[in-house]
Amino acid sequence: MTTVKDAPPSVVLFDEAFDRVSNEREKLREMLGGKGAGLAEMCRAGVSVPPGMTISTEMCRQYYAHNGTLPPTLMQEVMEKVKVLEERVGRRLGDEAKPLLLSVRSGSKFSMPGMMDTILNLGLNDKTVGALGKLWNNERFAWDSYRRFIQMYSAVVLEIPRERFEHLLESARRKHQVENDNELPVPALMSLVSSFKEMVKATSGKVVPADPAEQLKGAVEAVFRSWKNPRAILYRNLHHIDHNLGTAVTVQAMVFGNLDEQSGTGVCFTRDPGTGEKLLFGEYLINAQGEDVVAGIRTPEKISSLKSENAALYGQLEKTAQLLEEFYKDVQDIEFTIEQGKLYLLQTRTGKRSAQAAVKIAVDLANEGVISREEALKRIAPEQINQLLLPSFDPAEKEKAEKESRYLGKGLNASPGAAIGMVSFSPHEAEKLSEKGHKVILVRPETCPDDLHGIVAAKGVLTSRGGMTSHAAVVARGMGKPCVTGCSSLLIDLEAEEATLGTHVIRKGDVISLDGSTGEIFWGAMAMKAPEFTGELTTLLEWADSFRALGIRANADTPQDARRAREFGAEGIGLCRTEHMFMDQERLPIMQSMIMAASKEDREVALVQLRAMQKEDFRAIFEAMDGYPVTIRLLDPPLHEFLPSLEELLESVATRRAKGLEGQRLFREEKLLKRVRELKESNPMMGLRGCRLGLLFPEINEMQVTAIFEAAVEARRQGIEVKPEIMIPLVGHERELQAVQQHLEKVALSVMEREGMNVEYLFGTMIEVPRACLVADKIAETATFFSFGTNDLTQMTFGYSRDDAEGKFLQRYLDGVEIDGEKHKILQDNPFEILDRDGVGQLMQIAVQKGRVVKPSLKVGVCGEHGGESSSIHFAHKIGLDYVSSSPFRVPLARLSAAQAALK
Ligand code: ADP
Ligand code: MG
Ligand code: MG
Repeated sequence: MTTVKDAPPSVVLFDEAFDRVSNEREKLREMLGGKGAGLAEMCRAGVSVPPGMTISTEMCRQYYAHNGTLPPTLMQEVMEKVKVLEERVGRRLGDEAKPLLLSVRSGSKFSMPGMMDTILNLGLNDKTVGALGKLWNNERFAWDSYRRFIQMYSAVVLEIPRERFEHLLESARRKHQVENDNELPVPALMSLVSSFKEMVKATSGKVVPADPAEQLKGAVEAVFRSWKNPRAILYRNLHHIDHNLGTAVTVQAMVFGNLDEQSGTGVCFTRDPGTGEKLLFGEYLINAQGEDVVAGIRTPEKISSLKSENAALYGQLEKTAQLLEEFYKDVQDIEFTIEQGKLYLLQTRTGKRSAQAAVKIAVDLANEGVISREEALKRIAPEQINQLLLPSFDPAEKEKAEKESRYLGKGLNASPGAAIGMVSFSPHEAEKLSEKGHKVILVRPETCPDDLHGIVAAKGVLTSRGGMTSHAAVVARGMGKPCVTGCSSLLIDLEAEEATLGTHVIRKGDVISLDGSTGEIFWGAMAMKAPEFTGELTTLLEWADSFRALGIRANADTPQDARRAREFGAEGIGLCRTEHMFMDQERLPIMQSMIMAASKEDREVALVQLRAMQKEDFRAIFEAMDGYPVTIRLLDPPLHEFLPSLEELLESVATRRAKGLEGQRLFREEKLLKRVRELKESNPMMGLRGCRLGLLFPEINEMQVTAIFEAAVEARRQGIEVKPEIMIPLVGHERELQAVQQHLEKVALSVMEREGMNVEYLFGTMIEVPRACLVADKIAETATFFSFGTNDLTQMTFGYSRDDAEGKFLQRYLDGVEIDGEKHKILQDNPFEILDRDGVGQLMQIAVQKGRVVKPSLKVGVCGEHGGESSSIHFAHKIGLDYVSSSPFRVPLARLSAAQAALK
């Protein structure tokens, strides 16, 4: 039972939230926003949090429903709660002896970092500032706070451009010859406050109200307004967040990090978000307030140095981190302030992390007993596994680069992964270049929310300033994009659009390589290296194997791919395409002479040569798959694919004739041309291919099956356990399969007899023609297995030619087609990526059901590209398939997805 009240409360104190809003985490977030909910939960978990209240998102929705006016009694209710805060803190809003100061903060259901603005030190005016100084016996602190308040309030509420304040600050710093704002003497701060006020008055005719209640009202309205600022809208569009959710407003008593050297502010993760290591990870600044740390104004200290600076405080932080992890059962990203040695938490949220960290953290938390193995598996997005398996730079290449002085320098390893691209100094240009298909590295002094579109477009981000928690770092990590920040030796001249790094001058358009895992930057494009498995990934995937019901195979055409597939955990090959075996320099001519053969005898000569080559291919694949099944598909593509193209031949023959170059070559090309013309089809994908080819040229199939069984026999003699599964492609009528299979079983038996050795084998078919699904019962009388070739099946079910559709109309179908001013979105997903359950999926279900009625032991799998896509894997699990087969690199993803499907 939940405790949601009928009318949602307009405003609640942190410690009332559970009783008055909900004890459900989800509901709490919806009503109070992530920040408000987090503060309420931290109070409950016993963490020290300055008292405060949260105005619900419902009020924001009402604000917009009433054309931007506050609900009539809202401020009255807020002021009543303020009284409670006053009592708890022992100070009063606007009091001229003991003034209470407030922060006004925004927060919606989904964290939107840097999207909306916070106002600190609310309650200050010309009178309370003096009282604040006396109260803390610190005039500098009071005026620093007042300076900040006027600046923030004017910027956020009165919408005065920020640069104007920066400008005045800059000249004050110059005048007093100090580097940082916190070194400015009191008179300087006083005159800054008045010059701020004058500037605001001059530019806008407005003034910051002196009355704290009025200040508060203005701030609340500003937060509501900020929900619809362009940055927020862009962020929501990008992350598909509902524009109607609205934001909550948190009003909270201030604590002061800018009091003295015993005070400060910081941000920290309870574990390293890059590596997942269990240690406090973050940055802090002594004698600072609010966003000084992330703003990159002063260079912050690492949290680790707090340990030596102030062990007691570090201890407090560690204890709190532990408490929060236990409460949330996950890594937290926290914001804190220290006021004269006492720690306060101001925000907590689930920590965003790199893919590598996500895997390590999930496995560690399960091993620590905080979460179950099932939960650990559920926490990893399958795409994160893929990201982990992205290549990094080859270490040998790195060494070489250093010798050749292509190593440029190093910054902070803010977001792991490797990226290569051309340099752009402008987010706008980066976007344009990427639209044209270029790979871009965005290079900036630092980034801000306005640069988001450039980060989205870039392959990687490099900044000269900012730490591990800077805007660029946080955003890039969230997107899984390589990022190097704080590269202080990088000197950027934005106007000239060039930079210097080490001894190199980098101009726009130059190609650089960025290693976000180490922070290194290289000149030119570096070679990549194949990925490795970490211990945690191996563990996680082993857990996945223990829960999944689906078998996982790989599509592999070469022994090398087969070995990789085994390393990645494949339990067999679901599709070995034999046509690729004929494509190399040595074999193609033999294949061509087989196709060109005038007589059966001539064809035999070529086939004998091919058979020997195929036999060795198969033997090596059996060896790599020792003990696991190998599904070999017989030759599938139309024969003209092995011959030169018609255009190419026509041109060559014409030139030779024109130049009078008679001779062997011309003779050969003319013959080829004749054959190409004979084989030419107007719709080859629906022409003489698949089993049709084998029916008209049975000797090709015969050669392949002979090679398979000879290889199997030889492998068995070497002590290898072999399980060939021979797959006859593109069957649409049961008699096609009968005819081909009958012949080939004889071939198989004769090889085994000749060799005096038996091999365990299966014959089956690829189901990729819609008709085959509908007559699956008849086909199952012959076949012992089905493997859905979902690429062709999708193509034929929709009647789309994939090659034509993807380049032409498919994108329009996905984006929406506009007719008569109305937009019609035809397709939700690209059916070649995500299996179409309604159509193609239904055919598959029919096939499985009909097939198993006739043959309950029928083995059924998927070998199309969908076999490596998580939603399609879930579907395969749902309809009871035996296995999915994907490219070797997607095997780990498939293992996890299959486990998640089983745990659902
Ligand atoms: P954001 O949504 O951008 O993270 P926050 O509302 O968390 O904005 O505010 C930014 C920073 O302002 C906080 O990290 C904290 O340092 C400071 N801050 C907010 N509220 C208080 C408070 N009550 N006392 C002291 N500092 C505060
Ligand atoms: Mg912010
Ligand atoms: Mg915050």
